[in-house]
Amino acid sequence: ALGYNQAVKENRNLYNMLQELRGNIRVFCRIRPPLHSESISSIEHVGHDGSVMVCDPVKLQSTCKIFQFNKVFGPTTTQDEVYKETQPLIRSIMDGYNVCIFAYGQTGSGKTHTMCGPSGGLPKDFGINYMALNDLFNISTSREDVKYDIRVQMVEIYNEQVRDLLNIRTSSNNGLSNLPDAKICQVQSPSDVINLMQLGEKHRASSSTAMNHRSSRSHSILTVLVNGKDISGNVSHSSLHLVDLAGSERVDRSEATGERLKEAQHINKSLSCLGDVINALAQKNSHIPYRNSKLTQLLQSSLGGNAKTLMFAHISPEAESYAETLSTLKFAQRASTVELGTAHANKESGEIRDLKEQVDTLKKALASKG
Ligand code: ADP
Ligand code: MG
Repeated sequence: ALGYNQAVKENRNLYNMLQELRGNIRVFCRIRPPLHSESISSIEHVGHDGSVMVCDPVKLQSTCKIFQFNKVFGPTTTQDEVYKETQPLIRSIMDGYNVCIFAYGQTGSGKTHTMCGPSGGLPKDFGINYMALNDLFNISTSREDVKYDIRVQMVEIYNEQVRDLLNIRTSSNNGLSNLPDAKICQVQSPSDVINLMQLGEKHRASSSTAMNHRSSRSHSILTVLVNGKDISGNVSHSSLHLVDLAGSERVDRSEATGERLKEAQHINKSLSCLGDVINALAQKNSHIPYRNSKLTQLLQSSLGGNAKTLMFAHISPEAESYAETLSTLKFAQRASTVELGTAHANKESGEIRDLKEQVDTLKKALASKG
């Protein structure tokens, strides 16, 4: 299209300015391949510089819009290529950074494909969840100077209820105030992880006759907790949130009734709360409305706090998805302007820890005297 290069250039300059602000929410856009070869696409151009141009398939070219992200993955991008770009973020977890990766987009746009892989994370064409954990294990076994301990938790949020996917029968108390009250499992190897993910998927499916329906109507959150301790006693604690969000499409209220309407209302509410939090952060408001939904409560420390956050904006290429594609890209663009500030590693030197222990001992001694 005429004027494309000029528009990209202008976009690029603006984008570079934004990039200078360190610690923004990073946004990667991924375009699913078309499901049928004959389908008409609304995506006109994917640039190597992280730009994507979408055009209204009904109206003329003049309605085309260009969006700029950190990366855009075209329809032929492989899982390995996507992971390769995500890997530096994952690796920083081992140095004590908190990381949050979330997949946003309408149902069928490829969120689960990116996070879990096809058929919900079975051992073929793995997604980020498995590749990240595998990587963390590789790093932890290759480092002789640091001893790591890796634990995972898996929950889903369905109709504003948090459900433990690793332990559905009994309720547990993990005693951690910033995490939901759900079981935390120690993992020793990549195969432990595969087993837990399959267990989680099974639990997620068991509550519904149509698993695909349920999984697109709930948010699933896999949390990985990594504690490290080096030979001189320095410790680090970090967490990784891997979030497969419910489908972002608006369900027409006139079409949905009963359970479906209730689900739609809960999803609309939690995703619009996520949008409100992102807007408030982007505008640097003093009040950030985290407490308006379970999702934003659980992700609070990853959205505004001391974390590196990556959003995958998933889009479907088909012409009939144009409206949803545009709405996803706008949401993603807003997210990319959020400045989180520079993340800090959650590290504590051995010396400080020893002093804290001494203080604790003294406090206890005092308490027992009084
Ligand atoms: P969502 O989780 O957003 O609802 P899915 O990940 O289930 O979407 O993807 C919908 C369908 O498209 C699935 O059959 C999936 O295997 C396929 N799919 C999605 N992304 C890709 C991709 N990048 N390459 C090949 N197939 C894909
Ligand atoms: Mg899905």
